[in-house]
Amino acid sequence: MKQCKSCMKEIDNNATKCPYCQGYQQWFKNPQYLGFLFVIPFIAFMIWQTNMFKSKNFTDFKNNFKVDEVRIVQSDNNKYDIITYLISNDTDIKWNRINYEVIGYDESDKLVLTNSESEWKFIIQPHSQAYLSAKVERNKNVKKWKMKITDLETSRF
Ligand SMILES: [Zn+2]
Repeated sequence: MKQCKSCMKEIDNNATKCPYCQGYQQWFKNPQYLGFLFVIPFIAFMIWQTNMFKSKNFTDFKNNFKVDEVRIVQSDNNKYDIITYLISNDTDIKWNRINYEVIGYDESDKLVLTNSESEWKFIIQPHSQAYLSAKVERNKNVKKWKMKITDLETSRF
């Protein structure tokens, strides 16, 4: 003999359903829970279908981003320039973890040097703008800096 899990009355050891209260002794024998088991894959599919869990490829969206140089701040020690960029996101997606290049050109537009940087804390919301500050080493040959986003990631959560 064992005790019913619902009404605590003594019932047969092999009983899957209590003869007194009709309570199921194993949750998976309960048709209510069984129905729920069939719903789980459906819910999982619905979640998978939403953008939330889909990782997007930045290269498919790179034309939806605009980069504007806002200002260059020369740092105190004369070694670095801090360049602030305003990035515009014209997509329906929230992006983060930016990888970018700051490319220096001389007076005849010849490439002098390239700095590859990443900013893990960078976040840009859908259809909005965000500032990014890039720190570049001063170089007397560089007359102009240009910033290029090389990668952004989509948020999974
Ligand atoms: Zn019972």
